[in-house]
Amino acid sequence: MATLTKLASIPVESVKGLSGRRGAALRKAGIETVSDLLHHVPRRYIDRSRVEPIGSLGVGEEITVIVRVASISTRRPRRGLTITEARVSDGTGSLKVVWFNQAFRERQLTVGAEVALSGKIERFRGSPQMSSPDVDVLSSDSEALTTGRIVPIHGAVGDAGVGHMRRAVHNALTRSRPIPDPVPPEIVKRNGLIDRDTAFGEIHFPEDPAQTGPARQRLVFDELFRLEIALAVNKRRREAEERGISHTFAGPLTDRFVAGLPYSLTGAQARVLDEISADLALDRPMHRLLQGEVGSGKTVVAVLTLLAGIQGGHQGAAMAPTEVLAGQHFLGISDLLAQAGLGPPPGSPMGMDSLFDDPHHVRVALLTGSQVATNFTAGAKRGEVLGWIASGDIDLVVGTHALIQEGVHFRQLAVAVVDEQHRFGALQRVALKEKATDVDPDVLIMTATPIPRTLSMTLYGDLDVSQIDELPPGRMAIDTRWVSRSGEAAAWDEVRAQVAQGHQAFVVCPLVEDSEKLEVASATGEFERLSEVFGDLRLGLIHGQLSAADKAAVMGAFRAGDIDVLVATTVIEVGIDVPNATVIVVEDADRFGLSQLHQLRGRVGRGAAGGVCILIGDPTTPEGERRLEAMTATGDGFALADIDLELRGQGTVFGSRQSGKADLRLANIVKDFETLVRARDEAFTLVASDPHLDRYPELREEVGAMMGDEVDWLFVS
Ligand code: ADP
Ligand code: MG
Repeated sequence: MATLTKLASIPVESVKGLSGRRGAALRKAGIETVSDLLHHVPRRYIDRSRVEPIGSLGVGEEITVIVRVASISTRRPRRGLTITEARVSDGTGSLKVVWFNQAFRERQLTVGAEVALSGKIERFRGSPQMSSPDVDVLSSDSEALTTGRIVPIHGAVGDAGVGHMRRAVHNALTRSRPIPDPVPPEIVKRNGLIDRDTAFGEIHFPEDPAQTGPARQRLVFDELFRLEIALAVNKRRREAEERGISHTFAGPLTDRFVAGLPYSLTGAQARVLDEISADLALDRPMHRLLQGEVGSGKTVVAVLTLLAGIQGGHQGAAMAPTEVLAGQHFLGISDLLAQAGLGPPPGSPMGMDSLFDDPHHVRVALLTGSQVATNFTAGAKRGEVLGWIASGDIDLVVGTHALIQEGVHFRQLAVAVVDEQHRFGALQRVALKEKATDVDPDVLIMTATPIPRTLSMTLYGDLDVSQIDELPPGRMAIDTRWVSRSGEAAAWDEVRAQVAQGHQAFVVCPLVEDSEKLEVASATGEFERLSEVFGDLRLGLIHGQLSAADKAAVMGAFRAGDIDVLVATTVIEVGIDVPNATVIVVEDADRFGLSQLHQLRGRVGRGAAGGVCILIGDPTTPEGERRLEAMTATGDGFALADIDLELRGQGTVFGSRQSGKADLRLANIVKDFETLVRARDEAFTLVASDPHLDRYPELREEVGAMMGDEVDWLFVS
């Protein structure tokens, strides 16, 4: 008898058959402990009672046979072709099996091995034959464990084949059972779950295929329940421990800013601002995620949030994921402030016009790895600006994540906005905390890619969520078209037509993976080619290897209307806001991710004139095709985010924030969504009534042990 907590501390190498090289391979695959091994559940089961005897097989059927290998050999009739042939039998008959260019089968299938083959029966020269069937090696000898009715197929890891893994799991299970259940019995009961020990037994070695469903259900619930408890405890603890500043949202800056806007706020913007101002009023810091479709008007909400802190005499910070975007936020924010009469007069020297002299002036600085600027004086030096930030003379700093993390000292940072755009990953929040001196700043995280509900319950599960679910009035849907390379002329015609009406265009160049240099070369080449295609139009080029000043100059010219067609790499992907740009052409669009495409499309249709997005692509994979189809079918970011998650799988999504232990082994947050919702409810309710899980110490220990390193981020973010 051993608890999961205990099993999570026993190295996998101590299981019989897994010492040495095999253990090392398992460790590399993330199976480090006995608990990990017990979570390595079979990828499928073969039901012997439903296996067909060779003697009664009909042609054309998809079937599974269980057979022994009588002989196997490979020949190489010509270069580039190998044919592996095996003869197999099951006592009722024998069968020829062939594989093409799968010579490894000869190593995989030794004579005498018992294997399950799944595929179609064909007739070849009068005899039944199977070609290229799927193979599961049940056992390389006559091992006793394979004689049960249901044969579990545990995924092979390195040298540890299916049979070997099955035996190792069996050994581990026998020594661990019974596995006690630390989940409160009423939760088990309420959710119709079977007990934990039975679940482990039946997921690995069921006596009936019907047992595997409830067994898996139980283990999935446990996995999600642990994750949600960690999130709930973290949120709770943060709320109890952190000290923040209570801000009054209504005030001279926010009032004046709203009055100065050339439009009125949308209902959604107003509602979200209510949610934010309620958070700001509390004396504990805000941790809020602001979700809003591309173009939904998050910037204004962010500025108002910052102003609420600034008008109380504190400082704000706005962080963007790229230099281009930081530069753009700086310009955008400075413009909005100036329009509202909140910008300091240009050239106003420091100290003559401090916040105390005129409460209606907001001093803004841009600070990135290579750029420094302010909204009140030209040519300020980095050192000076750093000094003004430290003395509190600058009210708002706009920069990249990297910069905020190093070397910048605030007098009193009270509100921070983190623009994550589509990057899932909130690690920066940690570093930000340390910038604040004696209080914890209020933090608003903005994301333009709608996060599927599944992720806001897991990855972002410790944050409060606000959503701008309405676009500003007058927006027209973006007309999205997909053309193949051979039809690209249609795209250039559209660009010419839009430019003729006084509008502007983006052309996004093919993605070059892993090499910014090659990407720049390709963008430069494309710029030259398009210069010929477009003849007298004014073209500009922007890419990641331009200096920050050159990038800013190109963007400035585009914004001013001096460039008709901006040829770009994905540096324009996020946040660029030039309402007069009405058409975007994306080349080799099938190679971009779905959220990236949606972001790119969001660069147009920001003004009253609508927008056109043309995707040029000839997909070579089903996923590529599916992405382009999805883009033309819907403009709904939430629908796209769900499709994206489905196509990419949760692993890659979690990858950016989670790694290792807390990666979900059994649960799939899309397919197990209902279980996720129930586990979250139960976990948050439990933690609300018993914040330290004092009544359930075993459960507390298990969450700690099973979440491993992840508990660190859970407890710092
Ligand atoms: P995003 O959410 O993508 O960051 P932005 O904040 O850049 O969106 O806003 C997109 C565009 O919509 C900007 O040009 C902005 O001026 C405009 N906008 C924002 N709010 C409103 C509103 N309430 N009414 C009309 N236009 C608005
Ligand atoms: Mg934005």
